[in-house]
Amino acid sequence: MTGQVVLITGGSRGIGRAAAFAAAARGYKVVVGYASNKAAADEVVGKIEASNGKAIAVKCDVGSEADILNLFKQADTFGSLHALVNNAGVVDATSRVDEMSAERLTRMMNVNVVGSILCAREAVKRLSTKHGGKGGVIVNLSSVAATLGSPSQYVDYAASKGAIDTLTLGLGREVSAEGIRVAGIRPGLIDTDIHASGGEPDRAHRLAHTVPMKRVGTPEEVANAIVWLMSDEASYVTATTMDVSGGR
Ligand code: NAP
Repeated sequence: MTGQVVLITGGSRGIGRAAAFAAAARGYKVVVGYASNKAAADEVVGKIEASNGKAIAVKCDVGSEADILNLFKQADTFGSLHALVNNAGVVDATSRVDEMSAERLTRMMNVNVVGSILCAREAVKRLSTKHGGKGGVIVNLSSVAATLGSPSQYVDYAASKGAIDTLTLGLGREVSAEGIRVAGIRPGLIDTDIHASGGEPDRAHRLAHTVPMKRVGTPEEVANAIVWLMSDEASYVTATTMDVSGGR
């Protein structure tokens, strides 16, 4: 057991859930953030505990600063923070930009961008050697949408992930001499519920033929990259983002 804490926003389903299991298997204590589905978060915690790991579930809508402050407070009581996985993210229904409402755009940017930056802020306050911390890692979940632009689908989502790539670059360089590495992952088409949230449950499988590998990815394949970036094996990796997309 490393006994160190990893905090995963949206750790209750999909990629975050797989990352929670992968981190627990490597000895981390896991803080499983979730927005509303307590049962799913409790199931993740239960499975980790059943394998002699340690985990807690904390309700946190990353669109709320108060929720984020509480999430990190709970994490502080759980142990010494080593890593933040900025994973929580949302899509919306397929739409052209000329049809998008201000409400939609505000929610997209608030959850995907502002929430991630606020979580990064709280992590840096705890991890930076400048603040008396021991260093650590921030892993940001971007998307290949950031490089494709997602025309006629969700340009707003793609733009929010472009912002995440810039966050990884800028923050990574800002804190690189303070013991913190910041790295991003751009998943491709991964088999999770997020596609159903956008109103198209079959989206990933429908588009699988467009992937050079001709298949969708699994949450576990992304989780493996996340825990590698968190580990000392990635000790010289910072301010950069890696595609986990089957070549897409
Ligand atoms: P998912 O299956 O829809 O799971 C979303 C997770 O985030 C759940 O745990 C959910 O909690 C939580 N969540 C949703 N809204 C939240 C909010 N406002 N605040 C805090 N937590 C929230 O998503 P996923 O496919 O695993 O995606 C994870 C990350 O990977 C996202 O950033 C996504 O953009 C990115 N990504 C995914 C794909 C893909 O194909 N799946 C591709 C590229 C990038 P509840 O269960 O409580 O709702």
